[in-house]
Amino acid sequence: MNNLKNLRGTVDLLPAQLIKWQNVEKILVEQLERASIKEIRTPILEMTELFIRGIGEGTDVVSKEMYTFLDRGERSCTLRPEGTASVARALIQNGISSNPLEKLWYMGPMFRYERPQAGRQRQFHQLGVEFIGYDSVRSDVEIIALAWDMLGKLGIKELNLEINTLGDENDRLNFQESFLRWLEKNKSSLDLDSQKRIAKNPLRILDSKDIQTKKALENAPRLFNFLSEKSQKRYIDFKKQLEFLKIPYLENFNLVRGLDYYTHTAFEITSGALGSQATVCGGGRYDNLIQQMGGRNTPAIGFAMGLERLILLAGKELDVPRNTDIYIINQGDVAESLAMNLSRKLRNYDLLVELDLSGASFSKQFKKANKRKSKSIIIIGDDEATNRKFVIRLFDQSGNENKEEVISFEDDIVLEKWINNNLLAN
Ligand code: ATP
Ligand code: MG
Repeated sequence: MNNLKNLRGTVDLLPAQLIKWQNVEKILVEQLERASIKEIRTPILEMTELFIRGIGEGTDVVSKEMYTFLDRGERSCTLRPEGTASVARALIQNGISSNPLEKLWYMGPMFRYERPQAGRQRQFHQLGVEFIGYDSVRSDVEIIALAWDMLGKLGIKELNLEINTLGDENDRLNFQESFLRWLEKNKSSLDLDSQKRIAKNPLRILDSKDIQTKKALENAPRLFNFLSEKSQKRYIDFKKQLEFLKIPYLENFNLVRGLDYYTHTAFEITSGALGSQATVCGGGRYDNLIQQMGGRNTPAIGFAMGLERLILLAGKELDVPRNTDIYIINQGDVAESLAMNLSRKLRNYDLLVELDLSGASFSKQFKKANKRKSKSIIIIGDDEATNRKFVIRLFDQSGNENKEEVISFEDDIVLEKWINNNLLAN
C-alpha cells in the first residue's frame, strides 16, 4: 500500500510549531478582548450560493479557487474561502442585522484552490474582524488602528499600510464607463489575463501584477477623479484622522482588493519581509453586502489577516514554550498514586505541572526534568510514601539548586505558602 499523505497545500502543525501559533493567537485575541470585540463562529461548510452571491461570480476566489462539491443530498456545498459572507449570513439569519452595531471577530481555517508556495496554502487560517452597522469615518479609522496595534503587539516591524477609496456604487459606475472606454482603446497593451477581465471584472485589472499592464495603467483614468464631492470629503477626513493617530500610510490608487463587495475605504497592510506574498492584512468597507444578501441596509467594514504570514513575520521570542513550574518524579505503587494526587492539587494553583508517567529510573526522570528547564522538582519514592512527606527543590535559571523544603502531603497551608513565595511571586 502506498503511504498515506496529506493533500497538497495543507499542512500538519506539530507541537513544536504550535508554540508560536498559540502565542500569536493569544496575543491577538487578548488585544481583541481589550477592544471589547466579540467572537463569532460560523460553519466551515456553507451553501455554494452564499459565496457566489456574497463574494461575486467574477472574482478569482469564486471563479477558480473554491472547493465545491455535491453532498449526498445533491446540494452544492463549499468549504469557506473567507469569513465575511458567512458572518453576514449569520447576522441576517439570526435577526441581528435588524439591530446592528456589532463588533465581531472570527478565526479559523479557510480553503482556496491555489498554487501552494511560502505564505500561500490551500488550507490556511485567517483572523477577521467585522464592524457591523457602523458607517462613520471614525469606525474605518478605529478598525485600521486595531489591526495596526494587533500587529504591533506581535512585535512585527516594518509594516506598510496602503489605503485607497473605491467610492460608492454611483462613483464606481461613473468611473467604470470611462475606464471601459480606455480599456477597449488600450487592450493591446494589457496582459492576456487582464484582457479577459475587461468583460468580467474590469476593476480588478487595476490590481494586475503584470509589469507592462501596470505601466499602461499609469495613463488610465483615476477612480479618485470620479468620486462625488461627498466621497472625496470622506476620504480626506479619513486620512486626517489616521494622521492624528500617527498611523503612517501610503496611498495606492490601484488598490482594489479581490472581492466585489467593497465601497469607500480599502486597505492592505504589507511587509517587505514576506517576498511576493506580501499582504498580511486586507480589508475594507462593504456597505452594500448585507442588503445584497437579503438583510436590511447595513453599512459595515472589516479586515482579515493571514495567520501563516503572521507566523512567518513574528519574532523568535514567540517560539519559546512556557517553562514547567514543577516536574514530579515518581516511582513505586503508593508513590505514583500520591504523585498523581499532588499534581492535580498543584494545577489548581495555575501552575504548569508535569507528572512523569514513564516509570523509568529516578535518574532518567531527573534528566527529563532538567531538559524541560523545570523551575522546581518534586521526587516521590518509597521513602516519601512511607513518611508522607516530600521535598520540593527550586532551581535558578542556570539549573543550580537554590533551596529546598520538606512538606507533608497533608499540609496544604505550607504548600500554598511555598508556591506563593517561590513560583507565583513576580
Ligand atoms: P493575495 O493577493 O495574497 O492572494 P487576497 O487578496 O486573495 O490575497 P484576502 O482575500 O484579502 O487575500 O485575504 C486576507 C489575507 O488572507 C491575505 O492578506 C493573506 O494574508 C491571507 N491569505 C489569502 N489567501 C491565502 C492563502 N492561500 N494562503 C495563506 N494566506 C492567505
Ligand atoms: Mg488571493
